[in-house]
Amino acid sequence: MFHSRDVKYLREDVRVNAKIFLDLCKEAGLNVLITETVRDKAYQEYCVSQGWAAKTATIPTFHSVEAGLAFDICKNVKGHEYDDAEFFKKASSIGKKIGFSWGGDWKSFVDRTHFQWDDNKKYSSSMIKAGKYPPNMPKYEVDVSMKEITGATSDEKRMIKAIQTATGALANGVIGNQTMSDIAIKLNAKCFPLNVKLYGCPAIIAKDIDPFNPNSVIPLNCISGSFNGGVAPCSVLIRNGEVVCWSACHYVSLNKPESVIYKLRSTGEVKIKRVKTVSDDLPLYDVVWAVGGMGLMDFYDPEAEGFTGVFSDVLRKTNHTVLGYRNGMMYGVYCPNMTASQINTLCKSKMMFDFAIMLDGGHIAAINARDNKINTSQKQLYVIKFL
Ligand SMILES: [Zn+2]
Repeated sequence: MFHSRDVKYLREDVRVNAKIFLDLCKEAGLNVLITETVRDKAYQEYCVSQGWAAKTATIPTFHSVEAGLAFDICKNVKGHEYDDAEFFKKASSIGKKIGFSWGGDWKSFVDRTHFQWDDNKKYSSSMIKAGKYPPNMPKYEVDVSMKEITGATSDEKRMIKAIQTATGALANGVIGNQTMSDIAIKLNAKCFPLNVKLYGCPAIIAKDIDPFNPNSVIPLNCISGSFNGGVAPCSVLIRNGEVVCWSACHYVSLNKPESVIYKLRSTGEVKIKRVKTVSDDLPLYDVVWAVGGMGLMDFYDPEAEGFTGVFSDVLRKTNHTVLGYRNGMMYGVYCPNMTASQINTLCKSKMMFDFAIMLDGGHIAAINARDNKINTSQKQLYVIKFL
């Protein structure tokens, strides 16, 4: 007779998720003990004789040594292992969220202690007995974004909105990454460049930037930049006062300007302007850096910037990056699967930038930050580094 409660006997993909289940239960304050993972036929028969398994279940299935697809739990409190219905209900909601089926949902033999991977009930006990096992269980990805804080009482809600108003954040009553980063900016906290998700979009916030052509994969603390013609940047790019690309992307072909965000050496100010050529439209002697792109917010007018006809593909629903300015800080945002118009709305109503431009997108859209690495093996000819 063999049986074990060691998770090492579970199939590897199931074991990974069983451990995540234990972690999440612990986080939720549930004192879970795994009492059983696998068993052989002799022990299964013993379980039937004791009434722990259904009378017909004389051959182990999901619990079999060969399958390793199930585990049983109890509450790890002596004398109260099985008498707390609320405990099993809470544990079941965590287990089901991860992808396990729960024995407490069964009709014929209710088993609140039992969890199994059956690919969302696609695999039955008889299939397991016949050696037909479910495919690998996807690893449950724990949401790593900040836990949001909301007020419980009317005065707590009033306080949160007042803090948000005072810091310039969207006063939506929910403290998340935007409010916290705004507070960090106000306090001059030493956490920049900072990589956080804002409204589902990975972002980097920093005091200054350095735009350049790496002619390689995207370096750390960078987002993919503006347009390039396959060999070099073709939107305005000035780095350390040196002109890398001198005209708007649609200047030569359509005589159209683009929106350019630039920084002045004399005052440290960051500004935005429509530019055709840097020599005609920017005070070149005083510009530290400049980045061209498609205007958003007050500068949103794709037609005026030549994003029409074949060039209107820039407006399509795809991944884009955005350079924004707010509260004296530079923001680089990776916007997954959004149209230009949706990005414009996001910048106005949620990000609340002072001004912003959309950079290139599609297959080159990328971000390389501490906690968000997307499309980092793509070669780039225009990136923006956050300092
Ligand atoms: Zn079981």
